[in-house]
Amino acid sequence: VAKNLGPRSCVTFNEGMHAQAQKNLRTLNQLQKAIESKQFTVHYQPIVHSPTTTIAGAEALVRWNHPKHGLLLPGAFIPVAETSKLIVPIGEFVFRQACLDYPRLKELAGSPDNFTLNVNLAAAQLNDLRLSRKIVDILHETQREPQDIKLEVTETDTARDPQKAARTLHALREIGLKIALDDFGTGYSSLSRLIDLPLDTLKVDKCFVSELNNNAQKRRLVDLIISTGEQLGLNVIAEGVENKTQVTALFNMRCTFIQGFYYSRPVAVPQFGILNCTNVPPEPAHC
Ligand code: C2E
Ligand code: MG
Ligand code: MG
Ligand code: MG
Repeated sequence: VAKNLGPRSCVTFNEGMHAQAQKNLRTLNQLQKAIESKQFTVHYQPIVHSPTTTIAGAEALVRWNHPKHGLLLPGAFIPVAETSKLIVPIGEFVFRQACLDYPRLKELAGSPDNFTLNVNLAAAQLNDLRLSRKIVDILHETQREPQDIKLEVTETDTARDPQKAARTLHALREIGLKIALDDFGTGYSSLSRLIDLPLDTLKVDKCFVSELNNNAQKRRLVDLIISTGEQLGLNVIAEGVENKTQVTALFNMRCTFIQGFYYSRPVAVPQFGILNCTNVPPEPAHC
């Protein structure tokens, strides 16, 4: 690439890379300290059953309470954590915290039956042979039932080493945890993954949802994903839902589990349980 840009741009290119590498290294050092000094916190975004406007569960989303920069979203540090093994202790922290917060969140949600907390798994965790042992230990320590937790994996992460991912997920499913395929339709995948993995839930990515009402092709894709999930006996959750029009369109396509800013942004435990049902101004979509 640098060659094609000519001899001079080669220098800037390297400097840019060097600056980025240094920034990542700084982030890594800070992440290491952040783990030790407990600077991570978990926010929860309700997953709503739209016909009844009741909360069926929530997704746990990590945040970094940075001493200088304030509350940082995962986009600012998860990719860097994933390049090192630091994502493993961070993921373990989120899983434990979700287990600890479960009883309070369920109560704030109005104590629905089968209240479930979704926790994201990173690729490195999928490849960690000790993962299921650790999960069993944390469930025991926090007195949670395995079916209280649903693990979210992305298609792209399971595609890296499909056999290993399938083995890990089958072991977790065997223990009794539920499994969701996250960001469905955006990654490297094949439809056969839908039957090779022991899935319970499909999550329709927000890039499809955001254009439901102005892009007929994307609407057809959402319809297709929902029907596919239905045919395979999976629950379907639409994510990134920002307005009532999208809720209605999804309802008409028989998707009733909704996660998005329309009902609530991810919030800290004390703010959990309040649904606002307010349209959010549209943002440019990236897919
Ligand atoms: P994700 O798992 O697909 O999570 C959903 C993301 O969509 C969250 O972003 C959430 O705030 C955002 N979102 C939900 N509803 C809406 C909406 O209506 N509109 C828009 N524009 N966005 C919405 P967040 O919290 O920034 O997390 C981003 C990603 O970081 C997550 O995507 C997930 O891949 C990763 N992540 C978050 N927490 C963890 C974690 O504990 N472990 C791992 N490995 N990854 C995590
Ligand atoms: Mg997720
Ligand atoms: Mg997602
Ligand atoms: Mg995503």
